[in-house]
Amino acid sequence: MQDEWTALEHAAAHAIAYRRGVATAEITPAADYATMLEAFAAPLPEEGDDPVSVIEHLVEAATPGIRAATGPRFFGWVIGNSHPTGVAADWLASAWGQNAGNLIAAPAASAVEKVAADWLLELLDLPRQASIGFVTGATVANFVCLAAARSAVLRRAGWDVEADGMFGAPPVEVLIGADAHATVFSALKYLGLGARRVKTVESDASGRMLAGDFERALRACAGPVIAIAQAGQINTGACDPFAELAPLARAAGAWLHVDGAFGLWAQAAPGRAHLTRGIEQADSWATDGHKWLQTPYDCGFAIVRDAETHRRAMAISASYLPPAQGAEREPSAYVPELSRRARGFATWAMIRRLGRDGIAELVERNCAVAAHMGGTLGRDDGVALIRPVELNQFMLRFGDSDDATLAVVRQVQEDAVAFIGAALWRGQWVMRVSVSSAATTIAEGDTTIEAVRGAWRKVRG
Ligand SMILES: *Cc1c(COP(=O)(O)O)cnc(C)c1O
Repeated sequence: MQDEWTALEHAAAHAIAYRRGVATAEITPAADYATMLEAFAAPLPEEGDDPVSVIEHLVEAATPGIRAATGPRFFGWVIGNSHPTGVAADWLASAWGQNAGNLIAAPAASAVEKVAADWLLELLDLPRQASIGFVTGATVANFVCLAAARSAVLRRAGWDVEADGMFGAPPVEVLIGADAHATVFSALKYLGLGARRVKTVESDASGRMLAGDFERALRACAGPVIAIAQAGQINTGACDPFAELAPLARAAGAWLHVDGAFGLWAQAAPGRAHLTRGIEQADSWATDGHKWLQTPYDCGFAIVRDAETHRRAMAISASYLPPAQGAEREPSAYVPELSRRARGFATWAMIRRLGRDGIAELVERNCAVAAHMGGTLGRDDGVALIRPVELNQFMLRFGDSDDATLAVVRQVQEDAVAFIGAALWRGQWVMRVSVSSAATTIAEGDTTIEAVRGAWRKVRG
């Protein structure tokens, strides 16, 4: 039997060869789920296997079903690039086997989180005293921030939700924009706030909340209020008018939370920061590391202005856990889990790798590629750019038809020069393009423009 270390070397060699290839090669269409199930299907192993065989078998079986999400022409959903430097740091996080649960179990992981958290606040220009929990992604970041919101607004109404739960609590009103992300409703569901009992605030044609409607909705609320805004609508990239919403929320005593999974990163790019003006006045912010910061999955940040409220909602105490070390930041006090991956290493590594300038350049470049692609294709015959490109997300519709649009999306995926998906917007199918990878340049955008044109020609016949 070969030793375990050899398996690590094999894994590294395969990973490096894959990433070198994906950066330049044409994208091959990924084998589908059914094919992959077949490739992996086997009876439960009764005996252990040689470590190298396990890894070799994994690579052989999985490779046909690996979607080229790290390639330069991947425009699906909003997905970052699992940047090689972030991957390298993440390998070490796994190899070191650190449980980022507390300062004693993982001194380096705890310290790197503290330093990366401070860097994030500076980069994103948010209140420097805010606390950050390192979570799996924006879904859980929304959950954590809204747990803090629930705690604060109920506490102000004389209710201790951590001790007494939601039964008998004063009803909490939740205001949310009409074009909010689905995951926010999941967070509301987990928190006993209900996905359906929210009050919806009208939005404009790009999905931005209307401040006038927000003000009216706030005025109609009687008890504790949580208002949920958004930076970066997934179809349009639009950001809510925070400079107008925040003072209204504050005057009404409402907690203002922002889902800024990718849009919060506009704050890191001087040329885009006007889009998120006033966002720093909110009470909490959810964002991702694995989107615009390009860390590998999973990595998100739950940011709360008042650290004590954040801790009250999340801290875990048990006799066998070390007591909080005075003023030191306990990494588990800001997240729902106790044992978890040391996400600070990849975050720290990506901020060091790109620096403030590199992150600004990346955001600006992705936005420029989106504007170039959307503008160019939108002028083509039979192609409509649905909304002006503001950030990095945009929508196209072909032949003003659902069928034609879906056919072009399928054709682009089949031709496999680029990957782009579809979405429903205001009842109509669109091609939804997301530019959020460090690997994507204007030249890759041009190649993709030609691929989309080719697919549209085929569909038109
Ligand atoms: C991606 C996204 C989420 C969910 O984030 P995950 O990282 O997938 O958990 C939430 N809100 C918005 C606006 C997003 O783009």
